[in-house]
Amino acid sequence: MSLSLPQDLIVSPSAPLLIVDVDEVLALFMAGFERFIRRQGYEMRIDRFALFQNLYRPGEAEHLDIVTGRALFDAFFRDGADDLEPVAGAADALADLSQRAGVVILTNAPDCGRESRTGWLARHGFDFPMILNSGVKGPIIAQLAGLTSGPVAFIDDLLPNLESAAESAPRVLRFQTVADPRLRPLAPQAPERHPRHDDWADLKPAIEAAVWR
Ligand SMILES: [Mg+2]
Repeated sequence: MSLSLPQDLIVSPSAPLLIVDVDEVLALFMAGFERFIRRQGYEMRIDRFALFQNLYRPGEAEHLDIVTGRALFDAFFRDGADDLEPVAGAADALADLSQRAGVVILTNAPDCGRESRTGWLARHGFDFPMILNSGVKGPIIAQLAGLTSGPVAFIDDLLPNLESAAESAPRVLRFQTVADPRLRPLAPQAPERHPRHDDWADLKPAIEAAVWR
């Protein structure tokens, strides 16, 4: 699906630009989603890097079907997405980086989650323009990168999004970070193509070194 940029988005034509994902980058999504589905009587068992395939009815060996999982996901973004912990160090790092670079938040979430997502970002110190995307992120990253002649960096937890950025916008620097310690050992990665730093204390200097080299 191709998405056009918001009309009111302002990007400096020559400054560096950071394009930053939310879930597992700025927000501890899995932990918040787990609390939400528990309240609905389900449980999460994180034994693979997947979302719906980690959701179970208590006592059952077979994970939930995708329709039920998707319904819970949409319900979370409608009713539960305010209950997310911010990732340690992320707000301070972006506040500092944003003195020298533009920041755009690029999140994949259902449209029903737009309001709670913008509210959550503002409340936790991520008061930057947000784009709600659906599907792979490469095409919209290419559009964003076209707005500045400066260096552009993209930060996400998901390998398919990083691969999509590499394909659609090869000049964009890419970084992987996975905030949830339970997901870290399971996350597909390609660190030679997309350097990975799971802690913002390491991620921030890596971004600085690449963007302002
Ligand atoms: Mg994410």
